[in-house]
Amino acid sequence: MELPWKTKGIVLTAPLSDELDDVIKFIDEYLAPRGFNMIVMQVRYRYQFKRHPEVWGYDPLSLEDVKKLLDVCRKNNIKLVPKMNLIGHQSGFHNEPTDGILHGHNQVLPDTKDGLLRAYPDFDEQKDTREILYSRSICLSSIGARTVVCELIDELMDVFEADMIHIGCDEVFNAGLCPECLKKSRAELISDWINSLNEHIKKRGGKTLIWGDRLLSTDTGYNRWESSDNGSDSAIDMLSKDIIICDWHYDKYEKYPSVDIFANKGFKIMISPWRDKESLDDFVSYAKNHDTGHINGILMTTWCGSGDLAKRLLYGENGRWIHTEQIAATIEKSF
Ligand SMILES: [Zn+2]
Repeated sequence: MELPWKTKGIVLTAPLSDELDDVIKFIDEYLAPRGFNMIVMQVRYRYQFKRHPEVWGYDPLSLEDVKKLLDVCRKNNIKLVPKMNLIGHQSGFHNEPTDGILHGHNQVLPDTKDGLLRAYPDFDEQKDTREILYSRSICLSSIGARTVVCELIDELMDVFEADMIHIGCDEVFNAGLCPECLKKSRAELISDWINSLNEHIKKRGGKTLIWGDRLLSTDTGYNRWESSDNGSDSAIDMLSKDIIICDWHYDKYEKYPSVDIFANKGFKIMISPWRDKESLDDFVSYAKNHDTGHINGILMTTWCGSGDLAKRLLYGENGRWIHTEQIAATIEKSF
């Protein structure tokens, strides 16, 4: 597919340790020849943080692992951008066999906390609630959480030698519930938190990427994962315009009005499709026709294990996750 934008990116999860070599080969022999020049690596807490070993997640990457990933990216002029989830997605369930990802759940259940809330239960917005919907959130009024999160950002950007970090902030359903957070509107709460992390990242010369769904109202016609039904969308007018928005849409729509909304509000964006080829084509086509110069590029999402995807696309192995086959087929056909 011919794309008019200079950045062609893909989200890959941090590889499991026994699949690191497959993922390195995948970057070198599959992604680079197809012109990918950015990898956003979904790390979450899956790095062996030196300053905060208490937050290590499942099978964390070592410093040496990251340097190997950096080497193959540098060789191929690919920008490697670390990614965390720094509001929601603080808990979930592992697939069996695990791909290293904690997946959200659409039922009210007790689930597994990821590194930050496991180590610091007081940072949990619902610390007294055992069963929750989808995934837990960080308490955005917690000064302690902000301090630890900024230290994690610093270490991850140092290790990845990165001038850019993706801080997630998608699918936040459980923020703004505690007595302290209820003193502010959801839009203020979310924008204050993101702006303060962005200021921290800017001070060290970095750029911030976030997902755009909390900045869009369900009045746009998007579903409640791709947009917000609790008022957080007013944050779009409060956020610093130097934050790059990753505008993700996975369903098929007649129009993708977010492309125009972000242009009108003065944001640079990346468009982020997923596994359904028809939806991807429609979204890309809409974005091409509505580009006011504000689209930096495409950021293809995957959400299967990077090793799973690598072994499917390099060796034709069957994917372990239910969606891996479709994700791989769409990548094959589109790029
Ligand atoms: Zn709170």
